[in-house]
Amino acid sequence: MPPGTAFRPLLRATQRANVMGTQVAFAAAVAGIGAYAWYRSTNTAASDKPVFSSFGFHTLRLDSTELINHNTKKLRFELPDATKPSGLSLTSALLTISLPKGRWLPVLRPYTPVNDINDPGYIELMVKLYPNGKQSTHLHSLQPGDTLTFAPIKEFSWTPNKHPHVALIAGGAGITPMYQLARGILHNPDDRTRVTLVWGVNTDEDIFLRDEFAALEKQYPGRFKAAYVVATPAAGSPHQKGFVTRQVLEGAGLAASEERNRDVKVLVCGPPAMEKALKGKGTGVLAQLGYRPDQVYSF
Ligand SMILES: Cc1cc2nc3c(=O)[nH]c(=O)nc-3n(C[C@H](O)[C@H](O)[C@H](O)COP(=O)(O)OP(=O)(O)OC[C@H]3O[C@@H](n4cnc5c(N)ncnc54)[C@H](O)[C@@H]3O)c2cc1C
Repeated sequence: MPPGTAFRPLLRATQRANVMGTQVAFAAAVAGIGAYAWYRSTNTAASDKPVFSSFGFHTLRLDSTELINHNTKKLRFELPDATKPSGLSLTSALLTISLPKGRWLPVLRPYTPVNDINDPGYIELMVKLYPNGKQSTHLHSLQPGDTLTFAPIKEFSWTPNKHPHVALIAGGAGITPMYQLARGILHNPDDRTRVTLVWGVNTDEDIFLRDEFAALEKQYPGRFKAAYVVATPAAGSPHQKGFVTRQVLEGAGLAASEERNRDVKVLVCGPPAMEKALKGKGTGVLAQLGYRPDQVYSF
């Protein structure tokens, strides 16, 4: 079983607690207490293997922070061995577990490392701040030298060249798994997959990875294309206004009716309203475009 797979039910419980409020919060809290006890009993023992190559909790030291835009911070954590990469595979997230000040229940939330998974010695998270968000406010309050505990979670397992073309559709902070995957595909010289990204955001300022995606477009012309759609664009914004609609996806060259899109794999990561609009049974934009359910995966 890949690292972190066994932990997915707990992750799903915490995710559902995020969107369904108190209905399942109790179950998540109980699971959280168990996980917290478990994490307190583990440590970051020295090993020959990269730290996250197998499942377990590890506490890492925060090396530096950088404010990326009005609500997003980049946090760089040191790995225990400066010469080894994290051991995460494409695609993976890290479950963070903390006990923020004033809380008696641990908080568990997943975040996606955005640096190259082969980078030795560190991982980087990009964390969007939600007002009153339990974990995001805690992470934004951390200072260099503070620590945080992580466990790896296996997400969508990427196989190079299995699909000729992958469509990455992201909303807001849902961009981070897409960035990890796009970069992992494009930087692998043995992977020839084409990648199209469509990213829906609230404002122009929210496009915090603009330079990174522009660099990928330049480096991989014909293989990578990014399109942005902005709900409330600034005056003179070069981007499309609105949400990720059928027209936006068609404009990005993602009409399923096109022969070359027959075997596109569509990955979606965004807020619940966006996922519903895209994947709602029968009425969802992706079904309207002709995508089969087996072509679509949600993070
Ligand atoms: C696999 C996976 C990977 C993720 N990777 C990242 C990442 O790399 N960077 C990142 O910033 N986040 C990421 N997230 C989201 C993250 O796990 C948390 O859900 C988010 O930080 C909010 O947690 P919180 O405890 O601060 O907010 P909570 O205390 O859970 O919620 C407080 C309030 O914030 C608002 N809110 C919370 N989450 C959302 C949301 N997703 N959309 C809109 N409003 C919301 C709601 O109004 C909610 O009532 C990822 C999620 C998943 C499932």
